[in-house]
Amino acid sequence: MKKILLTFFGILFTMLGVVNLKPVFVSAVATNPDLEWSTYPAVKEEDHKPQTLESHEPITLPDEKLIEEKPTIKLPNSSEKGKASLLAIVIDDFGSYERGGVDELLNSNFNITCAIMPFVDYSKEDYDRAIGSNKEVILHMPMQAHVNLPESWYGPVYIGSYENPSTAVEKLQKCFDEFPNAKGFNIHIGSGASRNQKLMEAMYNYANKHNMFFLDSRTILDDKCEEACTSTKSIYLGRDVFLEPEKNRSYQGVTNRLNEAAAIAKEKGYAIAIGHVGAEGGINTARAILDFCKTLEDKNIELVPLSKVYELIKADQFT
Ligand SMILES: [Zn+2]
Repeated sequence: MKKILLTFFGILFTMLGVVNLKPVFVSAVATNPDLEWSTYPAVKEEDHKPQTLESHEPITLPDEKLIEEKPTIKLPNSSEKGKASLLAIVIDDFGSYERGGVDELLNSNFNITCAIMPFVDYSKEDYDRAIGSNKEVILHMPMQAHVNLPESWYGPVYIGSYENPSTAVEKLQKCFDEFPNAKGFNIHIGSGASRNQKLMEAMYNYANKHNMFFLDSRTILDDKCEEACTSTKSIYLGRDVFLEPEKNRSYQGVTNRLNEAAAIAKEKGYAIAIGHVGAEGGINTARAILDFCKTLEDKNIELVPLSKVYELIKADQFT
């Protein structure tokens, strides 16, 4: 009997635990490539429902001032001894109702790049605050996973895995209309859409046409961004490091990842790290970044907006 009762309470507490942890879990699955996608049913082409573009009022998710002109870029002189290595820190999920770390990062003077989700609770507020504090803004474009996740995780406008490329581009344009000073875009979720080479080619073509960059967030490691980048003769930007280890989203866990990013920057001249506000990172990510940024000068690393890395790659400065 005792054993039966113990088993019963064990199951009960496990279920309660799952319920309590759901928001974190939900959010974690959304962008972490290490997670077990197979617990969700696959998205099939016949499931694709064309999304209408009519409604774009901000929704509540369950779970301008003008920007200063981009300063003239000083290209590093390769013969210059001791030149700083470059680090771009992109923070995803601005705009979301999950607010952990938002104030700390937006109020700081550090040159982080803010990736903002379109048409969600705080999209406009975060955009105005980021632009007002001279931070670079990019669009954090929701794209479908390869498994069926709740639609609410994407927000009201997202690119489906089997979307017609011209519709995808219309959606992208609609989102950029909300963020007129955005310099480029990256991927929110997107493990399905980013494996569709035709769609990714449409993303690069859009970026090239509008003199923007597209950052391959690499939310899944076998995406088709590099292939699409090559076939459209575009400049490739790819995430090097996610700042939150799945099993250790502590201050120390994030700090370790920042150190990894710094080592990559030293090795190849630049590194691109992605962290998160809200449930996937939040206050631990923000505090770790703020403390780490104070040590950059000693490390001879320069924190730069992502557009600077893009311009330098374009100018062949890292080859
Ligand atoms: Zn995201």
